[in-house]
Amino acid sequence: MSNIHEMGFIKEKIDELKQAGLYKEVVTLDGPNEAECSINGKMAINLSSNNYLGFSNHPRLKKAAIEAIEKYGAGAGAVRPIIGNMKIHDELEALLAVFKKEEAVLVFQSGFNCNAGTIQAVTEAGDLILSDELNHASIIDGARLSKAKKATYKHSDMADLERVLKETRSEYNNVLIITDGVFSMDGDIAKLPEIVELAEKYNCMTYVDDAHSSGVLGHSGRGTVDHFDLHGRVDFTIGTLSKAIGVVGGYVAGKKVTIDWLKNRGRPFLFSTGMTPSAVGSIIEAIKMLMESEEYTDKLWDNARYFKEKMSVLGFNTGESETPITPIIIGEEAKAIEFSKKLFEAGVFVSPIVFPTVPKGTGRVRCMVTAGHTKEQLDRAVDAFTKVGKEMNII
Ligand code: PMP
Repeated sequence: MSNIHEMGFIKEKIDELKQAGLYKEVVTLDGPNEAECSINGKMAINLSSNNYLGFSNHPRLKKAAIEAIEKYGAGAGAVRPIIGNMKIHDELEALLAVFKKEEAVLVFQSGFNCNAGTIQAVTEAGDLILSDELNHASIIDGARLSKAKKATYKHSDMADLERVLKETRSEYNNVLIITDGVFSMDGDIAKLPEIVELAEKYNCMTYVDDAHSSGVLGHSGRGTVDHFDLHGRVDFTIGTLSKAIGVVGGYVAGKKVTIDWLKNRGRPFLFSTGMTPSAVGSIIEAIKMLMESEEYTDKLWDNARYFKEKMSVLGFNTGESETPITPIIIGEEAKAIEFSKKLFEAGVFVSPIVFPTVPKGTGRVRCMVTAGHTKEQLDRAVDAFTKVGKEMNII
């Protein structure tokens, strides 16, 4: 019998991944996450980051982090229900509630934790969690932690959503309909107005994960609820603080009673130490910057339109994206991985996205254009895509 501590069973699984061409090595950035950065010693235009607004290395965010460390120290000390909130946590949650136009907000240590903590706390046995089939992994895992039944509806297919509701609504106490606000691998926007109408018709709760819409959609990046003017009609709005906001963390915005409940039953809030003062300080600054001006969101959209237009004129398949997320769909997994490698050699860092993150046969590279890119950088990226795309007979 082999020695279990040599981890032979894990090595076998890794070999399987390698044989299927699905094993991923993680690259190392030599410095900050910028529009153009050094990766393993080589400069490349960065189209892999969710740093939509270029905030993650912004001088105002860095200054705010340093000030917060000087005032509050490096760490939060313990889980918040035990050690208490720092004033800076309260300040952030109050600011986010104003920004999101909701009664109250609770901040978690990540967007993932936010879904893991919220879904299971607001559902129980006898309920149904009804999820778009393309929802993010953290929603799927969050739902798994709940004792409620789970079901999916076809991606953004309102007829299918209504079919499930019609057939099963009467079997359950509460039904929670969950959708990504913007779908992270395709960049399409959820049909939130229709979802809300169906939810109202069938007396269900609604939950939208605005990870890729916070700082991107709506007035000053207030998210999909603002984009569709649905204030007051969505029960739970989730956001990340790690993407456009540039730092780390997640939050849920909703009714005060929901937030009071999550402070008592949201497990990552109860059992994992609160956000560091430096992160919170930077986030407060980022939200203030968004509230001051639309300069950053305007620049993001201008760059995204510019890049997308050029890529589709070249003949690349950019899918159904309606947002700065620009997938270049290749199909075969190995070809998508090869495309990404060749692009890196040509000076563009854009990660391949393959099964199981996207369905089999829809391998792609996902270009994340940001407000931090200059037109000159985007032009150079387009040139590299043209060269490699032609070499590989993609265009
Ligand atoms: N929800 C969605 C839709 C996401 O795309 C992500 C990030 N990939 C998350 C949640 C998790 O957010 P975070 O990285 O802040 O944990």
